[in-house]
Amino acid sequence: MATEREMFLECEVKRRRVRVGGGYEPFWKVKTIADAIADNDTEFRCKSCGGAVKVVKRRSPEGPALHIEHKLKTDSEHCVDGLHFLKATDGRTPRMSATPVH
Ligand SMILES: [Zn+2]
Repeated sequence: MATEREMFLECEVKRRRVRVGGGYEPFWKVKTIADAIADNDTEFRCKSCGGAVKVVKRRSPEGPALHIEHKLKTDSEHCVDGLHFLKATDGRTPRMSATPVH
């Protein structure tokens, strides 16, 4: 039996922009993980729940090799993009991560 895994391809990356009045301020921008890697982004989070994600690079003949997964199972259980949430049959409602990345 094949192991089902999380495979989502869009994340938020932390960027900096010029703040009105001077200096810089961080903001989160949605992009695909492939673009993020190409742009050398280093800080990622889930675009749906704000939770920590890990980048998975896998060389595989089928399916997208490059994707992201939640680091925490508790995020995956309550995020609209989470594998455990999608598989849950108890009608639970999604919520933001309890430990969001800032
Ligand atoms: Zn999430």
